[in-house]
Amino acid sequence: MTFADMGLRPELLEGISRLGFEAPTPVQAEVIPVLLETARDVVALAQTGTGKTAAFGLPVLERLDLELSAPQALILCPTRELCMQITRDLQSFASCLPTVRVLAVYGGADIRPQLSALRRGVQVVVATPGRMLDILRRNAVDFSKIARIILDEADEMLNMGFEEDLEGILSTVPDEAQTFLFSATMPREVEKIARKTMKNPVEITVGTRNAGCENVSHEYYVVQAKDRYRALRRIVDMSPRMYGIVFCRTRLETQQIADHLSVDGYNAEALHGDLSQQQRDSVMGKFRKRHVQILVATDVAARGLDVTDLSHVINFTLPDDLNSYTHRTGRTGRAGKEGIAASIIHLRERFKVKHLEHATGQTFTRRPVPTGDEISRVRLMTLAERVRDTDTGADLVDRHIDEMSALLEDLPKEEVIKRFAAIELHRMLLFYREAPDLNEDVQSRFQDRRPGPRGADRAPRTRGGPRPDTADKVELVMNVGSVNGLTPKKLMTLVNVSNRESSIDIGRINIFKIQACFEVPSADAQGVIDAFAQGRVDHNGRKVMVGPAGSPQPGPAPARTPLRQGPPTSADHADKPRKPGRGQGGAKNRR
Ligand code: AMP
Repeated sequence: MTFADMGLRPELLEGISRLGFEAPTPVQAEVIPVLLETARDVVALAQTGTGKTAAFGLPVLERLDLELSAPQALILCPTRELCMQITRDLQSFASCLPTVRVLAVYGGADIRPQLSALRRGVQVVVATPGRMLDILRRNAVDFSKIARIILDEADEMLNMGFEEDLEGILSTVPDEAQTFLFSATMPREVEKIARKTMKNPVEITVGTRNAGCENVSHEYYVVQAKDRYRALRRIVDMSPRMYGIVFCRTRLETQQIADHLSVDGYNAEALHGDLSQQQRDSVMGKFRKRHVQILVATDVAARGLDVTDLSHVINFTLPDDLNSYTHRTGRTGRAGKEGIAASIIHLRERFKVKHLEHATGQTFTRRPVPTGDEISRVRLMTLAERVRDTDTGADLVDRHIDEMSALLEDLPKEEVIKRFAAIELHRMLLFYREAPDLNEDVQSRFQDRRPGPRGADRAPRTRGGPRPDTADKVELVMNVGSVNGLTPKKLMTLVNVSNRESSIDIGRINIFKIQACFEVPSADAQGVIDAFAQGRVDHNGRKVMVGPAGSPQPGPAPARTPLRQGPPTSADHADKPRKPGRGQGGAKNRR
């Protein structure tokens, strides 16, 4: 199917042809005909970078009444950057139509120009929810002519706590307006809002539900927590042509890693919520133009960045929820290119990897952290390839080549190569000359903690006796939670029934929605994991599995949040906007 077959106006066909769009992408081929031909609501599962802006943008523009200057379409999206991007895209698609007025409305910017543009009359409003609600409360816009509403990146909007705002906004548009919901993932919260606000929607899935992109190779490296940064450097050093984002969890960590990378000679910059909007725009601009090779970012700050052709996405730390993982890694492996999603984990996070494998249906491959020698070899070969492929630009060197050749006359060719390589890569070769192996041995650590035959050197402990020192405890994670009807008592029964040999002294228990964390004496940890690994324990029809979570902590251990599919809480993401009450809309868009 071509764009012309879809019945778009000639001016729109001209507009997209000027942008170089020759054939529709899969999401466009699926979505555009439905949006053009029916008045039904649509839920489309599609990731960023698949061409979804045109998938909803072209039908919106096609069905505008150009004679009418009132808002006829409302597009809601999670971030200021995405809001501006969608507005720019729509303006480009409409470049050959007589004036179509598309306005971007977002927080963190002066509201007055937005209000006066609305007064002058616009036909399409692209908005972030907080600012939109603010404007609606001021009665500064009339939505009675809205015929189409688009919820773009619905999962992100809900993740960011915009649910109430969305409901508030949707209550101001006519009931008969057609709603299109686009989401990269379909967590329960999105299904809920779709059920609440849409009538019998057509469901369109491009690609697999909740699955990552096919061209992405999911890899992980297991190192001790203290070696994360060294491992990151090695991953980067192995890929001299990397163009990627390193994701961290907090603003502080993001800044520190970016600073370390810069000091160590990498072309890296940080992107997080502590930067001013101007600083963020500048960093994003440099990264887009590839003047910056490595962007170190938090999930929230990177959300609006419309760069999807990355060679690498590196999780310096794994995110807590599946949606963030999908969003992060969806930025690579695009347009048929191979992409690498690499995660640096410590031994006890392997359970999270298993969980991600299960939830995304992708295989995660453990890769050994490259050794110093491997990196040196790759860098030397890359240098040799560069030398082979370099065009010296005629007279730049030619003018002095005789003099140079005379100087090096006595050196054999191999020696000349060695010396040029040493000059170019001296620092790196020296750095990696005796670099240690960073790979964490998967087997050894648990075994180190296990005392010979199970429990042989421990005094037997009776139930209800004094609680052992928490320093001797490790935390495990179970793959069932409150939604499966798990209670602390049931968890204890499951653990002890499956470990018939001895009674396990269970410490702190935290039951989450779909998982539970609990502490056991470190000497018993492997036994508990093994007992469940046989797959014989069942809880309400679900096979129960147990694996390690975070590392053992002395003293009262803070609860660690396991990987889960639900939306993150504000405590999970240090730079996520806190969910404000209604009426504080503008503040939400500042990140
Ligand atoms: P989006 O998912 O809408 O952010 O689009 C991702 C990128 O693909 C943008 O740079 C678009 O300009 C580009 N794009 C969208 N549709 C097409 C198409 N049919 N042909 C070529 N490029 C496209």
